[in-house]
Amino acid sequence: MTRDCIRIRGARQNNLKSLDLDLSLNEFIVITGVSGSGKSSLAFDTIYAEGQRRYIETFSPYARQFLDRMDKPQTDSIEGIPPSIAIDQTNPVRTSRSTVGTMTEINDHLKLLFARISTLYCKNCGDEVSKDTPEGIYQTLNKELLNKQDQTPRVAITFTVIIPKNFSQNEIEGYLSVQGYTQIYSKTSQKIEVIQDRLRFNDSNRARILEALEVAVQHGRGHLTVRFLDDSDQIFKFSSHLHCATCDVSYDQPIPNSFSFNSALGACESCRGFGRTMGIDHQLVIPDENKTLLDGAIKPLQSKSYQKRHKKFISLAEEKKIPVDIPWNQMEPEHHKWIWNGDGSEKKGMWYGLDRFFSWLEKKSYRMHIRMLLSKYRSYDLCIDCCGSRLKADSLLWRLGTLSDANKVVFVKDRFRHPVIKCNKNKFSSMPGLTLHDLMMLPISSVDDFFLL
Ligand SMILES: [Zn+2]
Ligand SMILES: [Zn+2]
Repeated sequence: MTRDCIRIRGARQNNLKSLDLDLSLNEFIVITGVSGSGKSSLAFDTIYAEGQRRYIETFSPYARQFLDRMDKPQTDSIEGIPPSIAIDQTNPVRTSRSTVGTMTEINDHLKLLFARISTLYCKNCGDEVSKDTPEGIYQTLNKELLNKQDQTPRVAITFTVIIPKNFSQNEIEGYLSVQGYTQIYSKTSQKIEVIQDRLRFNDSNRARILEALEVAVQHGRGHLTVRFLDDSDQIFKFSSHLHCATCDVSYDQPIPNSFSFNSALGACESCRGFGRTMGIDHQLVIPDENKTLLDGAIKPLQSKSYQKRHKKFISLAEEKKIPVDIPWNQMEPEHHKWIWNGDGSEKKGMWYGLDRFFSWLEKKSYRMHIRMLLSKYRSYDLCIDCCGSRLKADSLLWRLGTLSDANKVVFVKDRFRHPVIKCNKNKFSSMPGLTLHDLMMLPISSVDDFFLL
């Protein structure tokens, strides 16, 4: 008995006539046949049903009661069958954004996974961004003490109050002192830095420090500052929000839909979650570069309905001293540029350029024959904003795993790690872990490796 094939013996489901069959694993297998010959009985009612049935049997009896159970298919035996997924030919929710991931609910699981356990990295500095807790702040400051001569320096824990419009500085100071806050560290006409507590940083003060941190972050609407009152004058800023203190950038707490390209929350705004944008393919517009402008190098202007435009174009080109009788590939780059960009509007008797010609057609694309015409010159380009990942840049800052975890599973280094975002390419590809898109692009065998790490 070999382990790398599915062995079906005596399949009699529906109209199957005691079929014996071996199917290799890890291969793409197509079942064909005339209508009624039993293709679906074999694929869905036998193979899928048995794979699903055995998979569900691995769950506890309690979990099993919530799952759809399938009848045992009629066969003598089926061996070597893995858990199965079926994409039904009658799946009702299919849009142009659908993928195998969305149709099998794998994406639903992935977006939950990312919303729960992924880590955020700052888009500016690439450092991990996490919420600061009083305990975490205490630990950070404690580590800082190791570098100091005075191991129990005095510190001030402060929070900042923004002075609202229609209030004066004096009024706000009055309110603060009513609440017991009389010590001000600094003030401007816009804000007041209030001292929550001033004390020695040592273990015996631990409880008092934690309490001060807790209260200061509340009054500071999620932000607080700790100042060392020694020679170092060190200042530490903390936040209970997702906030990179180094770069002063705030991030939103994600929800599962932040990781879905089917949702406005997660989808890249430039391509609306399609991962590609439509444009005009220059090679289709000028298919034969050996042709001259006179011979009709520009294909869309050769149709009968645009003959007048073509004539006008040729005369404008001649006025501009652009050679109309040499092959396209021997013309100067600035001549090509003029042909694509033009130099003014048609009304002023100038050449509007092929780019504007196509956007003008685009506006008329409600007409069938214009749509047909445009479709001949369309190109589908990778979206430059999301590099095809379909997700918003902020969603791609959330990652799973470390840099070495990611590099271990990526068999061609950096091939699946998403560069993302034009400006900071290098920082992004050296960020730890995998984005949701990276994970979706991994071969199935590597996905296993990644999660077992
Ligand atoms: Zn940062
Ligand atoms: Zn995009």
